[in-house]
Amino acid sequence: MEFPKEEDFSEWYHKVLDEAQVIDQRYPIKGMLVYRKWGLYIIRQAQQYLERRLEEDGHEPVLFPVLIPEDVLGKESEHIAGFENEVFWVTHAGATPLERKLALRPTSETSMYNLFSLWVRTHGDLPIKIHQSCAVYRYDTKHTRPLIRGREFLWNEGHTAFATRKEALENIETIIGIYGKLIGDLLCLPYQVNKRPDWDKFPGAEYTIAFETLMPDGKTLQIATVHNLGQHFSKVFDITYADEQGGRHHAWQTSYGPGFGRLLAAVISVHGDEKGMILPPQVAPVQAVIVPIIFKDTEGKVRKEAEALKHKLEKHGIRVEIDDREIRPGEKYYYWEQRGVPLRIEIGPRDLEKKQVVVVRRDTGEKLFVPEADLDVHKIFSDIEANLKKKAQESFNHRIKKAANMQELEERLTTGGIIEAGWCGKQECAKQIEPIGTILTIEEDKKTDCVNCGNPGTHIRIAKTY
Ligand SMILES: [Zn+2]
Repeated sequence: MEFPKEEDFSEWYHKVLDEAQVIDQRYPIKGMLVYRKWGLYIIRQAQQYLERRLEEDGHEPVLFPVLIPEDVLGKESEHIAGFENEVFWVTHAGATPLERKLALRPTSETSMYNLFSLWVRTHGDLPIKIHQSCAVYRYDTKHTRPLIRGREFLWNEGHTAFATRKEALENIETIIGIYGKLIGDLLCLPYQVNKRPDWDKFPGAEYTIAFETLMPDGKTLQIATVHNLGQHFSKVFDITYADEQGGRHHAWQTSYGPGFGRLLAAVISVHGDEKGMILPPQVAPVQAVIVPIIFKDTEGKVRKEAEALKHKLEKHGIRVEIDDREIRPGEKYYYWEQRGVPLRIEIGPRDLEKKQVVVVRRDTGEKLFVPEADLDVHKIFSDIEANLKKKAQESFNHRIKKAANMQELEERLTTGGIIEAGWCGKQECAKQIEPIGTILTIEEDKKTDCVNCGNPGTHIRIAKTY
């Protein structure tokens, strides 16, 4: 049962999530999911990769409570205004109304910075760089979509305080580098880094930088954001330090996070094909599956050889399983292909005689006959990674287009992608552009004539977004 991804991406996506046991959408709260092995494992790989790199950069792990008191959440007015329609409130303990309403964290700036003000006294207490992996809660009123737009989502959030603006800016560059590695190297995904227009920044930030990739239907998916918070929150939460002369100064802050559900959605959607998922080897729950081809008279030998190969591969750090279920080989192939397992290794009596194995790559379908002694799975994995990156990048580049006028903009956006155009900066022109596509970024230093009125303007990128 194959389902074409190109014809109906939405249907394909739901089928893969369900049939490959990535998540279960039947949990009885809308927008809240049950994560299963073939999804959660990938999330954990991404999480561990990210946490390791953040900690190498000096971030300390923390875990804050999920509840934030109303007065703390509401302390920064711009910030609370950005979230107030999305907050889940805890109002009762049993039948007794609580004296202070408590919010399920929609993000953790306020709860953390409330404590930062106690942690920071002198110059010596800075910088603070912390991160936590957790779930956050937002009652999103838009149409929910599994892993992409939900009401409980998994992420890692980083938060900092520095003595100088310069250090905060350097931290932003470091984080852009770390996220680039996570998205591009580990998950093999192409991406763009876009500084959001002022009206689309994080509530309370000076500016927001977003990472986005392109989904098969041509819409962009924002997968991570980095915020320069300036001294906005440090002034509200009174995060100050004394310099050596005894003068007090407000700290400079940044915050950032990738969403793990969205990263997972992107990996599945960008790399997958009509058979299901195609996973980058580094994050695949099972990296290689051995399928013994069983005939009665050679059964013992073939099984023994399969076991021996499994142990050998495990010694090389490879996650490998033997599929010896009593079902047809074709059913087994389908099962593992759907789950995106990068490599299938078949061993039958004839291969045994020739001292070879049959290796099938999930990404290309290529079948290789390899002398068992020469089998280098790590080499095949790096070939698969390189191929996934190349294919995805080509498809991404192919969907970046230009539009000189509104007709072109509309035409190009019907097939999606990221459209490069110009905007004069006038509200009336933005009002014509934004119903057709979202302005992802304004590149102030590049000049391009306005796509609507033709007057001189700055370069912009437009897309339909999730
Ligand atoms: Zn204009």
